[in-house]
Amino acid sequence: MKTKTEIKAPVLTDRYGRVHDYVRISVTDKCNLRCVYCMPAEGLPFFPDEKVLSCAEIIQLTKNLARMGVTKVRLTGGEPLLRTDILEIIAGIAAIPEIQDISVTTNGLALKRLAKPLYEAGLKRLNISLDTFDPERYKEMTRGGNLKRVLAGIEAASALPFEKIKLNTVIIHGQNDHEMADFLRYTFEHAVNIRFIEFMPIGQNDQDWQAKYVGIEQAFAVCRANGWDYQPITLSGNGPSENFQIAGAVGSFGLIHPISCSFCENCNRLRITADGCLKSCLYWDDEDSIRASIGDFAAFEQRVQQILANKPENHQMALDQQDQVKNKKPTWRHMSQIGG
Ligand code: SAM
Ligand code: SF4
Repeated sequence: MKTKTEIKAPVLTDRYGRVHDYVRISVTDKCNLRCVYCMPAEGLPFFPDEKVLSCAEIIQLTKNLARMGVTKVRLTGGEPLLRTDILEIIAGIAAIPEIQDISVTTNGLALKRLAKPLYEAGLKRLNISLDTFDPERYKEMTRGGNLKRVLAGIEAASALPFEKIKLNTVIIHGQNDHEMADFLRYTFEHAVNIRFIEFMPIGQNDQDWQAKYVGIEQAFAVCRANGWDYQPITLSGNGPSENFQIAGAVGSFGLIHPISCSFCENCNRLRITADGCLKSCLYWDDEDSIRASIGDFAAFEQRVQQILANKPENHQMALDQQDQVKNKKPTWRHMSQIGG
């Protein structure tokens, strides 16, 4: 366990006073699913291998960011467990003294095989995406996924001493919103944190995304309809999620509602894409490549500070704001090309 004294003073502060100590690194844009809210049905052209950051580059850029005050890292994708060198990447990052927390977001398909090696490589926390308990619906929502494999992965991970496992559940109107009660019930006997996530219009060119959107504070109405008492709780982690526990449950649930309740004023995140661009905000198309400077700390630091200096104050995902902004463009990337 690393001690607090090893943490450097935070230096990544933007013009709104927000301190950035958390980086989400997309280690690949490739994926073995095509989730309806994340990728178009026809898929996306993947970056050629040489465009994707190598294991050595990912570790070095994390070392650089650690010197600048970053203490928490999440690996994402695409599907991060498709990288054949994912264990080396995790071990390399876990060995950086300043890094206090390393986690992965995964669709869970490879977890049965990889949960133990990931833990042994130094992984602390896992978020597993799961939007339904119905095998047919899972196949539809992921365009081909096998629910059994994910459930086996969750079971394998649950048997290991990871810090709390979180399940990411994106709620889509007419697809899985009627399953919120099933997810909440799951927390009665499973020591996981179910994170209901609002559908976000990232890379969604179609204008009908609002029809898919559900405000996830609906979870409270579901609790009340079932006579379940719930209380706010505090959970460790980096997320903007507000957490609650139903009386008597061993697990808990969290709400991530970027649309109905923006959390930009406390944003502490940087995002690195698989092709080496730094994004200061998930929503906007502001980004710049940091790849060429990874081996030169002074140049790297200058580049990161430049990008951070222009970090937008907030996103404009809210339903009533989207058409108001004419002078800025939302990102061209789909969610699988950023990592969420
Ligand atoms: N493949 C991994 C997975 O699915 O967990 C990691 C990458 S995925 C892009 C990261 C997270 O973003 C997942 O939990 C996914 O459910 C979420 N996500 C993808 N598209 C989204 C959208 N349009 N709105 C909200 N969350 C989304
Ligand atoms: Fe792949 Fe994850 Fe996107 Fe689903 S949410 S398509 S698993 S990157």
